[in-house]
Amino acid sequence: MDKPASAPTPFVRGLLNPAFPVLIFLVFLAIALGLYFGIEKQDSKQIQANLDNEALSMANRLEREFLVHAEAIRRMAKRREAAPDISREIWEQDARNYLADFGVYQAIEWIDDNFVIRWMEPYEGNEDAIGYNVAFSPERRQALEEAKTTGNLDISGVIDLKQGGQGLVIYAPVFSGEANNGFIAGVFRMEVLARHLLTSRALESFRIDIFDNGEPAYALNQSATTNSSFSSSASVELPTIDWTLTVTPSASWVNNQRSDWPFVTFVVMLCMGLLTSLTTLLVQQILKRNRALLKTRRELDAEIHQRQAVQQNLARLETTDTLTGLANRRFFMEDLAHTLSIADRQMRQVALVMIDLDRFQMLNDSLGHQFGDELLIKVSERLNALSDEKIMVAYSGGDEFMVCQQHVEDIDDVINLLGQIKQCFDEPFDVQGEKHRVTATMGVAVYPQSGLDTDTLLRNADIALYRAKEQGRNTYQFYTEGMQDREVMRLELDKDLNQALANDEFVLYFQPQLDLNHSSINSVEALIRWQHPRRGLLPPLDFIPLAEESGRITDIGRWVVRAACRQLAKWQDGPYANLRIAVNLSGRELDDESIVDHIQDVLESHGVPADRLEVELTEEIFIQNIEHNLNQLSKLHKLGVHLAIDDFGVGYSSLGYLRDFPVDLLKIDRSFITDVTERHDDAVITRAVINLAHNLGIQVVAEGVETREQLDFLKNHRCDLVQGYLISRPIPAAELEKALTEGVLNVDTPVGT
Ligand code: C2E
Ligand code: MG
Ligand code: MG
Repeated sequence: MDKPASAPTPFVRGLLNPAFPVLIFLVFLAIALGLYFGIEKQDSKQIQANLDNEALSMANRLEREFLVHAEAIRRMAKRREAAPDISREIWEQDARNYLADFGVYQAIEWIDDNFVIRWMEPYEGNEDAIGYNVAFSPERRQALEEAKTTGNLDISGVIDLKQGGQGLVIYAPVFSGEANNGFIAGVFRMEVLARHLLTSRALESFRIDIFDNGEPAYALNQSATTNSSFSSSASVELPTIDWTLTVTPSASWVNNQRSDWPFVTFVVMLCMGLLTSLTTLLVQQILKRNRALLKTRRELDAEIHQRQAVQQNLARLETTDTLTGLANRRFFMEDLAHTLSIADRQMRQVALVMIDLDRFQMLNDSLGHQFGDELLIKVSERLNALSDEKIMVAYSGGDEFMVCQQHVEDIDDVINLLGQIKQCFDEPFDVQGEKHRVTATMGVAVYPQSGLDTDTLLRNADIALYRAKEQGRNTYQFYTEGMQDREVMRLELDKDLNQALANDEFVLYFQPQLDLNHSSINSVEALIRWQHPRRGLLPPLDFIPLAEESGRITDIGRWVVRAACRQLAKWQDGPYANLRIAVNLSGRELDDESIVDHIQDVLESHGVPADRLEVELTEEIFIQNIEHNLNQLSKLHKLGVHLAIDDFGVGYSSLGYLRDFPVDLLKIDRSFITDVTERHDDAVITRAVINLAHNLGIQVVAEGVETREQLDFLKNHRCDLVQGYLISRPIPAAELEKALTEGVLNVDTPVGT
């Protein structure tokens, strides 16, 4: 069987936890966010760096352009120095050339040494500026004075121009010191300057603030929507002024600068997380499913194993009888069929023995089923000891066993086996603390002569068994040809017995017993006959065993008692009033608890004294079911009914019961009388029995007296009564009466010969 499922390790449990995929997703989310912000930060740094570059390059350009223009103004101043008397027209022409060359100037001016604007190009539009004193503030004046003295350039800060708008002015002194002849000044408009310096792209993309000495001086592209998270400042190195350029990018510039990587990375990582957790979920489901499948498989395996065990058990039960543990009938028959087919090939014989326990039914009924079961088990144990490779023992049911003997060489093998079986019953069986003597009757059928197939063999063994029972139990009988016919008859009779009582087909015959002491007939034995409608008058042996088997004997026995009492009642007031009638009671009849009451009732209802009736019982009644039978017989005895032991000497060797039971009469079995005059043994036994009985105060009847020699022997040995064909055969009542009346029932004139 498979090992039981081991508990998953904490690791596996963790992997299978439903929260695991969520955890994986969260980890990926954290990584995605980390990467997103990390890359974005990097991105911002890059943007800032780009912005710094932009700012720096703008500042550099401003510086450069500014210096170029300052240099141009200075050169113009130098030309003025070189030609101090230059006419206004030439100067204006010169200035126009400059303006054309350097498109950024708003105007070029000549300012006299009193700081008043004298000449100006272009003149149109700037007329108002002519005559304007550019030292309009002390700071300006000081700066101009200083430039006049040093000869250095002066650059005004961002100022409101006289011409309008904002701008700045570069002043280049013409001669320095005392020789100063004013300044050549270049006026820039800030917008123009800025537009000149910056590309249109830069103008769209940035707001540019110019700080002069830290003070906001000029703002370019002020209205642009900017992204205030970025800004970059760069200082512009110009003579005399301290400018700082602050560049703030527009939102669109920042957006353009921004890379898609943070978002892409974030989305990719998120997708990966989602995929990984989904995959984990899938793997979990697969694992769980696998585990469930494994579990189901294990359960299935266990179930299959269980079923196999049950099937094996069933198979064993199918072949074995649960009570006795022996092979059961079905298995035995299957095995027998197999055995027969082998025997057929090997030309061997096979014996089938049917064993029936004698009087088992009676024991079972009176001592209980528990007792019956235990007895069957004990018997089985002994019989099973005979089993070997040639012999199989089985329990057939009820009180029947079957034995199959293979490889039978000759009939002695079977007789040997029968002897062994009989030995099994030699010792009494210890059941429920008491020893019980049990015998068995056997019927034997031998293959191939008694049947070629299992069914025939079985049926014939059964028939043989029945015949053996008829012969008086504790014996065996081989099946012979002809038994079959008897069996058919037996079955028919069994069927007919159903109607016999109702149809009043039974009759009592009477056989007189001659009292040797008084030479008179004082008693008769009632022997039943069946007036069969087709078969004629049948002797008791043809139907009494059948009736015993079927249980009908109880009713028949009651009928016999009634018929006998009826006869006694008839004789009561006549010449035969002295006659006693002996009726035969089988063991089965005595098992009936109410039989004594019945006898009493019948006696009373017919007004017959109890001592007119005698009951004959065979020896086995005194041996088996002792307690019950003793009780029954004691009650009968108390009533006054005579008790006789029938067929004495054939059944049992024990004589102890003679002491315990209230016996009046003992009937020596016919088998001793037949040869009593020829066989010394029989003579000795008969004499001994007569003496024994007399010593116990019991009278003796000799059965089956057929010859005068026998009679003489019995007379000589003081036998009390004789019964036999010598005196009379069993005859109907009327015949008996006639014989009695005629006085012919003496030894000289036997009746019915
Ligand atoms: P049993 O009680 O021993 O009866 C004596 C049997 O011996 C009778 O046979 C009788 O006919 C026979 N017999 C008597 N004298 C002689 C003789 O000189 N020579 C020979 N060869 N036979 C003789 P039956 O009538 O055939 O009865 C056979 C047995 O049937 C009886 O043996 C008895 O055990 C049984 N039986 C008869 N009637 C009844 C009955 O009403 N109830 C029961 N339960 N059994 C009965
Ligand atoms: Mg009898
Ligand atoms: Mg007898």
